[in-house]
Amino acid sequence: MAMQDRVIIRDTTLRDGLQLVVEQVPAAQKIKWLHDLVHAGVTQIEVSSYVPPKVIAQFSDVADVVQGAMGQGVDISVLVPNLNGARRAFDAGLPQVNFVLSASEAHSKANTRKTRDAAVKDFEAIVAERTARNLDHTRLSAGIATAFGCTMQGAVDEDEVVALAITLRDLGADEILVADTVGYGNPAQVRRILGRIAEAIGPDRILSHFHDTRGLGLANVVAALDVGVRRFDSTVGGLGGCPFAPGATGNIDTEDLAFMLQSMGYDTGVDIPQLVALQRQIAAALPAERVGGCIARAGLPINASAAVTA
Ligand code: ZN
Repeated sequence: MAMQDRVIIRDTTLRDGLQLVVEQVPAAQKIKWLHDLVHAGVTQIEVSSYVPPKVIAQFSDVADVVQGAMGQGVDISVLVPNLNGARRAFDAGLPQVNFVLSASEAHSKANTRKTRDAAVKDFEAIVAERTARNLDHTRLSAGIATAFGCTMQGAVDEDEVVALAITLRDLGADEILVADTVGYGNPAQVRRILGRIAEAIGPDRILSHFHDTRGLGLANVVAALDVGVRRFDSTVGGLGGCPFAPGATGNIDTEDLAFMLQSMGYDTGVDIPQLVALQRQIAAALPAERVGGCIARAGLPINASAAVTA
């Protein structure tokens, strides 16, 4: 039998999932959830953001969370909005730093008060900072938000998204995150855009980030798998909304993603029942949030292998 194709699930519950949660989750609670993710076999986790506390108070404990997350034997990363954030991340010794800009000019200006070109310059400055500090072993991820459409400007030019991915790779990004921030993407579009990016920079450099806002999240994952992408962001219980679509469901659900991948024969290394148990804890801790997924609701099929630990 051929070796199972490995797919990496990068959990972003603690960052994207909590980003819009108003109730402050204590750092100790976040670290406990992180331990549960690690025990469930998740090997890559985005743990917080170096966004200023006045912008998102939920991440004012970033230093404590990073400290608690280091040394767990997994790959942790933190989102940085700019060079200042990147400096803090480099100071903390994080193995990976994630920067995100927006493919949509309208979204870029609304979200960061910067043009897209200015944001590319920011990434260039972050790469220069890494070089100046001799931190070549620190991986830099460059994300493209609103890559499949934008709630402000509607369609986003596909050629521009592909060109942006190539530019960011050329500037020094080790990984390009391609994000459907608002849940506008459809599988045909995902296959087309990610197929072109994969051809240009190689599928191994791509991490895709889908939201299930309009119910197409997992269908989009299948389309990405078709063009060779093997790394996906998700959150436990699909936690995380969209700032421009109140009430919308959030990210694709880690447990449901793992279930789909494992039932398709991919090796994810994660234990679904443990993730479901974590989802119940998170749902209980955040009663005001919409936390839910199909597997948590319906259970695993009777013949499913619950844990594929390679
Ligand atoms: Zn997201």
